[in-house]
Amino acid sequence: MSSVVSAATTTRRVQVWQLCLGVGVLAMIAYFGLGHLDVLPGTQVALYCSANGALAVAAIVSARRHPSLRGPMLLITASAVSSVIGDVTYYFVALVSGEEVYPSIADVFYLAAYPLMALGLLLIVRRRTPGWDGASIIDAAIVAIGTGFLVYQFLIAPQATDLTSADQFVSVAYPVGDLMLIVVGSRLMLGAGPRGTALRMIGAYLGLVLFADTVYSYQSVNGIFQAGNALDAFWMTSGFVFAAAVLHPSAPTLVTRSNAATPDATTGRLIILAVGAMTAPTSILIQEALGQAPDTIAAAIVCNLLFLLVLVRMTGLVRAQRLAAITDGLTGLRSRRYFEEALGNESARAERYHLPLSMLLLDIDHFKNVNDTYGHNGGDRVLVEVTHRLRELTRPGDVVARYGGEEFAVLLPATGPEQAREIAERIRRGVSAAPIAVSDSRLVRVTVSVGVAGMPAVATTAELVLTADRALYAAKNAGRNRVTSAADSYPAAA
Ligand code: GH3
Ligand code: MG
Ligand code: MG
Repeated sequence: MSSVVSAATTTRRVQVWQLCLGVGVLAMIAYFGLGHLDVLPGTQVALYCSANGALAVAAIVSARRHPSLRGPMLLITASAVSSVIGDVTYYFVALVSGEEVYPSIADVFYLAAYPLMALGLLLIVRRRTPGWDGASIIDAAIVAIGTGFLVYQFLIAPQATDLTSADQFVSVAYPVGDLMLIVVGSRLMLGAGPRGTALRMIGAYLGLVLFADTVYSYQSVNGIFQAGNALDAFWMTSGFVFAAAVLHPSAPTLVTRSNAATPDATTGRLIILAVGAMTAPTSILIQEALGQAPDTIAAAIVCNLLFLLVLVRMTGLVRAQRLAAITDGLTGLRSRRYFEEALGNESARAERYHLPLSMLLLDIDHFKNVNDTYGHNGGDRVLVEVTHRLRELTRPGDVVARYGGEEFAVLLPATGPEQAREIAERIRRGVSAAPIAVSDSRLVRVTVSVGVAGMPAVATTAELVLTADRALYAAKNAGRNRVTSAADSYPAAA
């Protein structure tokens, strides 16, 4: 009874991450509403800093709550703290000197926040996909190079006429920081791994920050930026959203290792890749239309690079498609189609080198009973476990395929009739040796009947399959859980 009550209270109670977003809304209302009154000196700065302050605190809380998140959370805390120090320093420098100083020591802290954040996100990426996830890296590279080119063309190049001046150097450093976030952020968002609410919120954070930073750079380049304008709303929201993300119950899934090797090529992803790949040529068109001189060399290099990356990615997709066509979805075994192809190749080879070639056809006994008693899921578990045993009981070079529903075929190159029979017997014994789990608490004993046939006893591949099938049928008729070869059932064939 008490557990029911407590469950009801937890669902009704406002969660910390929701509270965090609520505080964010209040802080922004206060910032834009009361801030200008400057009730106390520094009120506005304090309100502005509450966003990164919330992020720093939330990341610390998250690090303590989830040890798996500790590394990334500490880096994110460091990044948020660096931003807060930047804001406070900026405020004091302005207070002391009586004017807004640019660049100043504050910029060092603002800029340090970028690599710290990028490193924190990179740690998350590494934990989600520890190996070398080529497809995701290409996807991220396409987006990063495409947007990077835009950032370079429209935000960095116009300011980078004389990088020896501190002013210009700092102005260029900000878009470079954004580039870091774009590279790591697109890798995070386009990579494999679970997509919980926390990850989506981090996606929103990246979108808000990159949008605000880009508009800021644009306004700075064109001399129309005013401190305290609407962009602050984006920066503040981004801090609170990120804070909510790391407090969200789904935060631990941020570092859950992905079980899919390669993310699917969904329509959304293809659109993102297409847009990414089109940025460079499109920007040339826009610059031409505006009467500006496009940087054709940079654009040409980027176009070529993007074209090659798209081509590599498409090659990967075609390969994956081909692999999927010859692989059975449930068991991961080769499909019947692949088996038939392999049979053709192996029989040609056997003929050329005068080698024997054998095949086994297996069928699970009374499999319908398993399905009827334990459901389709129980049946599927049996199929997966039988597959596992088949793999262990065959040799490297043998081709194991799922031939039909609960039928399997094994191709045994360079294997004569006696040896084939031995392998078949080994498989029959191995499958029935230990019961198989059909649910977490139920075990069933599973047996198979096996038909064996071989070349050159039969002359063609079609005959080989037919003979193995007949032998299997004979094994079933003789009482199941046994091996029958063509020689037993049709001595004439031997
Ligand atoms: P026998 O000993 O004569 O082979 O008896 P059986 O019950 O195995 O007979 P049969 O070959 O007719 O039954 C095959 C059953 O396998 C029927 C079908 O519902 C089931 N089946 C086929 N594919 C799948 C699958 O992917 N998953 C599950 N769970 N069942 C499947
Ligand atoms: Mg069967
Ligand atoms: Mg069958």
